[in-house]
Amino acid sequence: MDAVLVNVIPRASVEARALHWWTALTTAHDTDVGPVPAVRFSKRMRTTAGTACNRTHTVRFSTRILHRVGMEAFDVTIAHEVAHIYCDRLHSTRCGHDRRWKSVMQRIGLPSHRCHNYSVERQPRRTNRTARLLSRLRAFLRFPIA
Ligand SMILES: [Zn+2]
Repeated sequence: MDAVLVNVIPRASVEARALHWWTALTTAHDTDVGPVPAVRFSKRMRTTAGTACNRTHTVRFSTRILHRVGMEAFDVTIAHEVAHIYCDRLHSTRCGHDRRWKSVMQRIGLPSHRCHNYSVERQPRRTNRTARLLSRLRAFLRFPIA
């Protein structure tokens, strides 16, 4: 699933930035709330740049948006999601984008607005017709002489 991503932006560089922000949060609050969250990627996320799941201690990022905006611009999103997990752990509750989360972001010197600023292009979903053609093409490539 992450094969495409690995070719363009190494998974390791996203993980390195997650670790960077996690360490910055730990230092800024002088509180260790546990290990750095696991990093996952999604090819499906079109309008959401990232999500954080407290239960699984995982942050997930959109490969589409990451590739479009590039690593440098995406860094704020990595910090944003990692800060959600940190804040929830710190306060032992879901903080959302409340003042506690804003304060956590401010402590590491980052903007605490809720949404990313990437322009999100809504790509049309595959129509049934396109899906049918693709499935026939795949079948043909699997069995070219059938
Ligand atoms: Zn958020």
